[in-house]
Amino acid sequence: MSDCIFCMIASKEIPSNVVYEDDKIIAFHDLEPQAPVHVLIIPKKHIASLDAVSAEDQELLGYLAVKVKDIAAELGLENGYRLVSNCGEDGLQTVQHLHFHLLGKRKMLWPPG
Ligand code: AMP
Ligand code: ZN
Repeated sequence: MSDCIFCMIASKEIPSNVVYEDDKIIAFHDLEPQAPVHVLIIPKKHIASLDAVSAEDQELLGYLAVKVKDIAAELGLENGYRLVSNCGEDGLQTVQHLHFHLLGKRKMLWPPG
């Protein structure tokens, strides 16, 4: 999608601090980190949110999920981490391209705010 900021990051029209990339997904540091490590993992395909996935995205999302531990290991998150996807208005999603926040290097809180 031409006006989607994360599509523009995936296509390198907008620079980002990339930590992992292949033909299906890209992971880059969040501009406003909420933890010492805060990386966003996104599919390169434009999908608006978890609420917009379809059956044809099953393999892609499985692929992304399996990559999480490798990206976490690369970032030194051997003590654990949190993976979050904010969805829709109540989920406080601000960028309408599916993304997973990978947060680590501090003890998380529960319940979330
Ligand atoms: P969410 O609020 O869950 O939709 O998350 C969107 C995230 O994208 C926020 O944590 C923002 O800080 C982050 N963000 C927005 N624009 C950029 C950008 N150009 N590069 C990196 N992170 C960004
Ligand atoms: Zn997009």
